[in-house]
Amino acid sequence: NEEQWNILAETVPQFVWSTRPDGFLEYWNKQFSDYLQAPSESIRGQGWRQFIYPNDLARVIAIRSRSLKAGEPYEIECRLKDGQTANYNWFLVRAAPVHDAIGRIIRWFGTCTNIESQKRLEATLRQNQERIQALMESTIIGIIVTDNEKVITANDAFLYMTGYNQEDLQNGQLTFSLLQSPESSTPDLQALEELVNFRQAKPYETICVCKDGSLLPILAGVVALPHHPSQTIGFLLDNSARKELEQRKDDFISMASHELKTPIKYLKLQVQLLEKQLARQSNAQTVPALASIEKQARHLERLVEAFLDVSKIQAGKLDYLQERVNIDELIYELVEAMQQINPTRTITVHGTTRAILLADRDRLRQVFTNLISNATKYSPQASPVAIEISKSPEAISIEVRDQGIGVPREQREKIFERFYRAVPSSQKESPGLGMGLYIAAQIVKHYKGTISVEDARGKGSTFRVTLPPRDSEAKCSIPF
Ligand code: ADP
Repeated sequence: NEEQWNILAETVPQFVWSTRPDGFLEYWNKQFSDYLQAPSESIRGQGWRQFIYPNDLARVIAIRSRSLKAGEPYEIECRLKDGQTANYNWFLVRAAPVHDAIGRIIRWFGTCTNIESQKRLEATLRQNQERIQALMESTIIGIIVTDNEKVITANDAFLYMTGYNQEDLQNGQLTFSLLQSPESSTPDLQALEELVNFRQAKPYETICVCKDGSLLPILAGVVALPHHPSQTIGFLLDNSARKELEQRKDDFISMASHELKTPIKYLKLQVQLLEKQLARQSNAQTVPALASIEKQARHLERLVEAFLDVSKIQAGKLDYLQERVNIDELIYELVEAMQQINPTRTITVHGTTRAILLADRDRLRQVFTNLISNATKYSPQASPVAIEISKSPEAISIEVRDQGIGVPREQREKIFERFYRAVPSSQKESPGLGMGLYIAAQIVKHYKGTISVEDARGKGSTFRVTLPPRDSEAKCSIPF
């Protein structure tokens, strides 16, 4: 009945309205007038048309008049003007005819439902979809989605890069491990660990095995999907051009170092010969000059050796001898030698490890020589350098402490990278090429040890190397 209908129409959140059979608007509820904020005369009849978004009007009129003619319900999405803000919002307009006993249309009832937020969401989704589509369809970036081990989706760029096809995917044959190369197990494992811990693995360099078995250097990154924990989405970029360039640079460094090695050796030899001859002829004035040439030649030789070591590490060809190394003996002898080279310093060593390791003595010496000479290089002339050695059931520990410039926190991992220097501009004159710590770290890594730096108590830095005591012999006697 009329009264119930009115109560209902005035309480529902939608706009409710009714028209005569010819479409003349006669009634609209309070919600509708509140929205339009216009006098009744301007809404009644066909007045409502002025509130429809101009671009939608023709469509609305066409659909409506078709329905009125056919006497069938209709649904239209269109924008209506909010009288308060003058903004247009999306509405879903629905109308249906009411018939009398003999089937004649006596009225049309309609509603308008606000679908603005739904429309906005749809637009955002469409936009996101478009962006993702552009990325997926690009030929520059390979994208794959995996579920547990299986690759379930891949774009054409990925398939082109790796030689697989959609059929391989549909067969469910393509798995993550099939793409992984044993040669790159370390970065892959690290990425997996990051993925498990942080739900994403930041971009990392690795090697991908293509369908034909060839290896493709790539830059990869992976993110776990928040609502599907077993699924990940990853990107792959072909990294071969950069790797090739890097390889060429490494080859150049290796070749240049080899080329430089022989003339330097020859130079040193000739200087030593000359030194002896002049000493025999008692030509004392020239001796200091020759000694200085020899010193510079030795410096050059060390640089070239370091370059060669870096090249060998890059190629995975750094050789290691296996010999019994008495760690205490090595460190005490080394400190004594370093003290002689730096007579104005106090270089001290404390502690014992009583450890014998099966390792390459020269390579270990190289590690600690670098740490001690850095400690002297990056600290004031008069300040002491203290070495502390100890052993626990878990590790042999060697600490080198200085009172120098220290290493800023954010650079403490980077200084172990190849050619990285963290020298502040005030210290730029201190010579170096950022190879020593890289080589040291690689040697320590070879022995499954650790190397790190932290603040020294007070000032400067403490470099700590730990080595597994695996091959040590507790009962060994030390000669000092
Ligand atoms: P180099 O000394 O030839 O630059 P290294 O690889 O031995 O190369 O060291 C890398 C960088 O680490 C150095 O350039 C320096 O910035 C920093 N560093 C190394 N040892 C120390 C130290 N004891 N105190 C402060 N900074 C250091």
